[in-house]
Amino acid sequence: MTSRMPQAGELDPIETASRDEISALQLERLKWSVRHTYDNVEPYRKKCEAKGVHPDDLKCLADLGKFPFMTKSDLRDHYPFGLFAVPRTKLARLHASSGTTGKSVVVGYTKNDLDNWANVVARSIRAAGGRAGDMVHVAYGYGMFTGGLGAHYGVERAGCCAVPMSGGQTEKQVQQIMDFKPEIIMVTPSYSLVIAEEFERLGIKPEEISLKVGIFGAEPWGEGMRSEIERKLGIDAIDIYGLTEVMGPGVACECIETKDGPVIWEDHFYPEIIDPETGEVLPDGEEGELVFTSLTKEAFPVIRYRTRDLTRLLAPTSRSFRRIGKITGRSDDMLIIRGVNVFPTQIEEQILRDPRLSGNYQVVVTRDGHLDNLEVRCELQREMSGKLAPAEIQAIGKELQHRIKTIIGVSTKITVMEFDAIPRTQVGKAKRVLDERPKQN
Ligand code: ADP
Repeated sequence: MTSRMPQAGELDPIETASRDEISALQLERLKWSVRHTYDNVEPYRKKCEAKGVHPDDLKCLADLGKFPFMTKSDLRDHYPFGLFAVPRTKLARLHASSGTTGKSVVVGYTKNDLDNWANVVARSIRAAGGRAGDMVHVAYGYGMFTGGLGAHYGVERAGCCAVPMSGGQTEKQVQQIMDFKPEIIMVTPSYSLVIAEEFERLGIKPEEISLKVGIFGAEPWGEGMRSEIERKLGIDAIDIYGLTEVMGPGVACECIETKDGPVIWEDHFYPEIIDPETGEVLPDGEEGELVFTSLTKEAFPVIRYRTRDLTRLLAPTSRSFRRIGKITGRSDDMLIIRGVNVFPTQIEEQILRDPRLSGNYQVVVTRDGHLDNLEVRCELQREMSGKLAPAEIQAIGKELQHRIKTIIGVSTKITVMEFDAIPRTQVGKAKRVLDERPKQN
């Protein structure tokens, strides 16, 4: 693996500014953003009036806590354009969320918004170790999903060459990577494993693949998955975070020199962590729901948007901005199994502690009378598949069951399958949870 450390002059000055400088810029931009939203987005103005707050009440950053939240249901209630802050004629592009958790929501961008977005994605690519002149294979889906086009314009802004491959057609993905020899790939972590498997199938070794860096996001993935991807592709795997409502990919990105959680581009996105039950702002370091306020967005500003992503704010390390810890999952991904809270990523971590198992897995929830049952379907690595005796496979399952019971605290049925038995997601996000419980009315 290579370490592509940033060179002097490659960072934006604000990335290494003092906290005072950052806070001053944030306050100035925050005042603008809250005022802009209040003046131009009627449903938000009504929320503020109902709560008795006015943009003039914002005198310091902490005053933001007095303002009302925006939620996904606000976006749905005002579908499609009810929360836009500029007239239609000022829009340069629309995108929609991929609808993982229900009806999709529509967002808009002005020309300036697209410019800022390209800049933060370019900054993310540099943080990940990308350099002008690199070739970047973009295997995020192109279209209404923000992944493909969001990455694409950032690649070009960073002075790199974009290969707009999009998702799917795995054989062709691999062929092009071998022929064009890109240094960087941008893709969901789950699909990167599918691509890695295709390399394995063809007998191509990690050292024969040109890729040096992968920039992975759009879905939760843990440290076990990072090691698995790094080993299989021979790259540094970097975590990029974002969401449609706030911008798209590039709200935060890890730095290659530390790989210690995505750095939030705090000059454009102001983060808070709140207690999801009470809405109270929590101090840095405490786990809760991530909330974002956009500081520069014109077309679709968000004030205190509740992401439903659960994580912590961490102190700055390689840049002056704060970081987010690994996203455990969305609050709506959390399964409550016989009273125990379980996230699919916790199960993923336990699966990947066994090198004989691959990172493709599925969690199936069923109901038996009043009780929920959890089945974990996992797969052997390709090189193990077909070579183990039934007793050995059974032992792998028993060990995993024991680890999940002792560490997460939930009883599971484990099904260890042969390699390639679990369907792969070719485009978009992996479907890790199959909820087969009868729907409640
Ligand atoms: P949808 O809400 O339909 O899935 P998006 O593509 O906007 O549409 O998804 C954004 C969500 O994806 C985030 O709120 C978060 O839950 C998840 N996500 C994005 N990047 C990451 C990441 N690096 N780690 C974990 N989760 C991520």
